Amino acid sequence: MVKLMSMQHVVDHPESVSLQIYPTKILRSKSAEVLPSEKQYIGATFDVMERIMEDHNGIGIAAPQIGLSKQLVLIDFEYADPNSGEKHGLKVRMVNPQITDSSREKEDSQEGCLSFPGVHAIVQRSMVVSVKYLNENLEPCFITNATGLAAFCLQHECGHLDGRMFFNALSAKDKASVLKTYRQIKDGDIIPEPGEIIVVETASIQKKHDPMAGNAAIT
Ligand SMILES: [Zn+2]
Repeated sequence: MVKLMSMQHVVDHPESVSLQIYPTKILRSKSAEVLPSEKQYIGATFDVMERIMEDHNGIGIAAPQIGLSKQLVLIDFEYADPNSGEKHGLKVRMVNPQITDSSREKEDSQEGCLSFPGVHAIVQRSMVVSVKYLNENLEPCFITNATGLAAFCLQHECGHLDGRMFFNALSAKDKASVLKTYRQIKDGDIIPEPGEIIVVETASIQKKHDPMAGNAAIT
């Protein structure tokens, strides 16, 4: 049996923690709830997650991505709407988050993942979601009716806690082509230009164009 890493280990040995890359098993496993007895480690664990997220220019990260099978999610982004100049963003540290409500209406979202480098795909996400979670002091908090990039990020990160990657909800055929491209990059059959992201064409790409698609979420 593999011994799971504890939050105390992350806090005591932050240098031993690193970004986990698909298909490592922890990214395909459900994470455990954070317990009140672990409260003292929460803030410092988020600090480690934040460092790794920033090192990789992410806008969100979930604990399994640093090898910790715990229900912790950090999201931090801000951008200005190109038309109105209006600022949008979300900066939050969530313990045991749960999506409590998600709209039936879906929207295309171009997504990538720090743990799945080099490949993006268009996936369908609920347009509006609400989430309940605990803050670092384990007090109940709520995000109601998040939309746009915030809604996509919340769904992406909460998916990680259930062992789901962003491409999991695609059709079998689309998922296979995403995984094939990922393997080809890993094997060196496709060599992207420095910084180049390959967007795999999926069936949903033909649907209505989503104004958010330019804001690829790498989380
Ligand atoms: Zn991700």
